[in-house]
Amino acid sequence: MTADIVERLKQDWFQRFDEILDNSKTIPLSGLKCLDLCEARCCPRVGMRGMQSEELASPVVVLLPFEMEYLIEKTGVSRHVFRRWPLDLTPEITIEIGMLDLGKPCPFLSEKLQCTIHEHNPLDCRTFPLLPFQNLHRALDWELGANCPSVEYLNSTFVTVVKRVWADLYPLIPQGWWDIYAFADHWTGWSQPEEANRGD
Ligand code: SF4
Ligand code: SF4
Repeated sequence: MTADIVERLKQDWFQRFDEILDNSKTIPLSGLKCLDLCEARCCPRVGMRGMQSEELASPVVVLLPFEMEYLIEKTGVSRHVFRRWPLDLTPEITIEIGMLDLGKPCPFLSEKLQCTIHEHNPLDCRTFPLLPFQNLHRALDWELGANCPSVEYLNSTFVTVVKRVWADLYPLIPQGWWDIYAFADHWTGWSQPEEANRGD
């Protein structure tokens, strides 16, 4: 019974991701000049460990519920490439959500520092340098990612649409996810580089 509910929830989220990632209907071009101005400062990779904090834009990607499974289905990667955290969807149902960080660096970043899964990359990636957060009133709020050299080029239509996408998702995202999301930015408990490719 629980497995049926989880499967149904997963299919609901998969459908949301399909709709969000259909760019022709939803998210317009960002206007960012990533290829011209940046070396993927927002894509977690081991090489970031030696960089100064002002050189990093975002060393962590937090996936939404079932977004890890969505990426696995779309790309064929193992779930071991993701850091996984338990998330209580309900008191009875706990799932794992995925993260990429400096201990589980993004497997989708090419040697030329380009995203190889742009057509279905995570919403956290697609949203950056906009950063959603929960304010003190537990309402959805926004800030801009520090150290993204493209911020000034952000297309205002992109900003509007991305905020609308998150506003639509907001009632569907469990509180526990926001707790992990807030915590993940400050978490540094990743393994050392020589341990990073062992899976778990
Ligand atoms: S979003 Fe900003 S930090 Fe990320 S690759 Fe583009 S320019 Fe660089
Ligand atoms: S999925 Fe793509 S955009 Fe996201 S961190 Fe990996 S390479 Fe960067």
